[in-house]
Amino acid sequence: MELTCVECPMGCKITVEEKGGNKEFFGYSCPRGKLYAENEVVDPKRVVTSTVKTASGEVIPVKTDKPVSKKDMYKVMQVINSITCTLPVKTGDIIKENVYGANIISAKTVK
Ligand code: SF4
Repeated sequence: MELTCVECPMGCKITVEEKGGNKEFFGYSCPRGKLYAENEVVDPKRVVTSTVKTASGEVIPVKTDKPVSKKDMYKVMQVINSITCTLPVKTGDIIKENVYGANIISAKTVK
């Protein structure tokens, strides 16, 4: 398996090889890259970005404040789609707490 590390702009190519039931990692340039590859193999995670409707009919951009497991992304989107928030909001304001281990936060200041 080949991965491209997305932890920094270097974009190192990391190779994962299975040897005797263990996984070995090659090509990373720092510990962050090895950790990224280990997580990608075991439980890949992503930051979810979307929009939330407001009570006044606008939509605001939101995202999770940390990566969530890819297996939970659809459920996170269902929660996001059920939210209606009230303006004003500032960038970083928590719109909804603890959604599959992350908070949904505003990605923009809207008055
Ligand atoms: S392995 Fe390290 S240097 Fe390479 S892309 Fe990942 S974080 Fe950057």
